[in-house]
Amino acid sequence: MARMTRYRAPNPGDVVTVVSRFRNPGYGVPGGVRGDEEFTEVKSENVQVLPPYPWMTSREFCVPTGQGRDFPISVVSLESVVYLSRAKRNRISGTEQVKIKSSDGKSFYKVTLENGHGVRCTCRGFAYRGRCRHLKEAEK
Ligand SMILES: [Zn+2]
Repeated sequence: MARMTRYRAPNPGDVVTVVSRFRNPGYGVPGGVRGDEEFTEVKSENVQVLPPYPWMTSREFCVPTGQGRDFPISVVSLESVVYLSRAKRNRISGTEQVKIKSSDGKSFYKVTLENGHGVRCTCRGFAYRGRCRHLKEAEK
């Protein structure tokens, strides 16, 4: 039976850490392998979500396994996901922009990162002083 999950499928290009859990088929089955854990958890850390295959449903997404040609990708079903987090930004070199919430929580500033270092911010403080706390926040 499918469990409800609180996770939404990430988009292709998102960098995610995902843990999926599978029930071991032998567990609790007479004649099954004793001493097995009931569940196996598979963790993929900071992997970039790949474009979906046409046959996948909207409740599935695929990630690289890092295990080479024999088993290059893994299709993850949301039903098996027990942990999913998106990286704040894709840790890829080059220029990128990160949205940082303003201190009143009502608006966002855009911080430009170059190779992971904050170099510009759209807030007023940066316009005056050429630095602000958002840069550090965006670098995290
Ligand atoms: Zn700022």
